[in-house]
Amino acid sequence: AAKQQGRNRYSFFSASMREAAMLKMQTAVDLRKALAERQFELYYQPIVNLSSGLFQKAEALLRWNHPDNPSLFSPNNFISVAEDIGIIGEIGDWVFKQATRQVAQWRERYQTPLQISINKSPLQFFKGGRQHPLWLQHLRDLGLPGDCVAIEITEGLLLEASPEVSETLAMFHRSGMQVSLDDFGTGYSALAYLKKFNIDYLKIDRSFVSHLAPNSNDMALCEAIIAMAHKLGMKVIAEGIETAGQRDLLLAAGCDYGQGYLFAKPLPAAEFEQLLGQREQADTPDRTP
Ligand code: C2E
Ligand code: MG
Ligand code: MG
Ligand code: MG
Repeated sequence: AAKQQGRNRYSFFSASMREAAMLKMQTAVDLRKALAERQFELYYQPIVNLSSGLFQKAEALLRWNHPDNPSLFSPNNFISVAEDIGIIGEIGDWVFKQATRQVAQWRERYQTPLQISINKSPLQFFKGGRQHPLWLQHLRDLGLPGDCVAIEITEGLLLEASPEVSETLAMFHRSGMQVSLDDFGTGYSALAYLKKFNIDYLKIDRSFVSHLAPNSNDMALCEAIIAMAHKLGMKVIAEGIETAGQRDLLLAAGCDYGQGYLFAKPLPAAEFEQLLGQREQADTPDRTP
């Protein structure tokens, strides 16, 4: 009976592996069509100044309106498939163009210095993925200053310490763009790279924020990260703030900005625009940009 059970368990396991592999293959096939068929959409989530409660920044987050089942396709899953099959560069270009077109429109319409954060896959720093000169041209065409864009990168990229990476980051800064280090604390956290690269914002990963309580280990880590970042001249953004309690603790710890469901979920452009319309334009004490 035990053997029987073992075999069943084994076949169950391999069936689900097979399913996962099939889903991945199908995802790859569908992804190649998605750009051409305009199935991608950007959502926007405000990044709030914790002391004023106002925002002048937002993160663009990719959504895939897959014709069969959009809810199946989280960027966490399909981005890695897009990287595997070598089309992350094209998708990334689309995201950059779409996000900057949108921010140009909003800055004009609402007379606001809105800055947009754009996630960049590490692969976009190398070989065919490197479209940055085109991006700069695109910004110029839109008449946008560089500082209306912040590029979000992750720790793994900096570990490589390759010339392509330093060169590209330096070029971003020359053109006025800012750089954020996303998901901080979940990667290798080899802190030495922080002094080698010019980083403007550290984004504390949601995993440190979600269990935040007074005197907890996570609290100590957040306080330490914030103190270190400030000493190095960086601003701090806390990700995944869901409760007023978390916000209050982070504010007390000196955290500059926050992002999370407490303030707003990532929103389709039309809904995000309503937030822009509601904002108190007379009072914008946020520092540049
Ligand atoms: P990320 O850049 O760290 O983005 C933050 C994620 O946290 C988003 O997930 C957002 O919806 C979610 N989030 C925000 N506030 C809360 C909260 O209060 N609670 C919880 N539980 N979650 C919250 P999303 O949109 O599913 O994106 C997942 C990841 O996919 C992103 O993580 C990013 O790494 C990647 N991604 C998204 N868009 C792009 C893109 O355009 N290009 C690239 N290369 N990657 C992208
Ligand atoms: Mg991000
Ligand atoms: Mg993150
Ligand atoms: Mg993440």
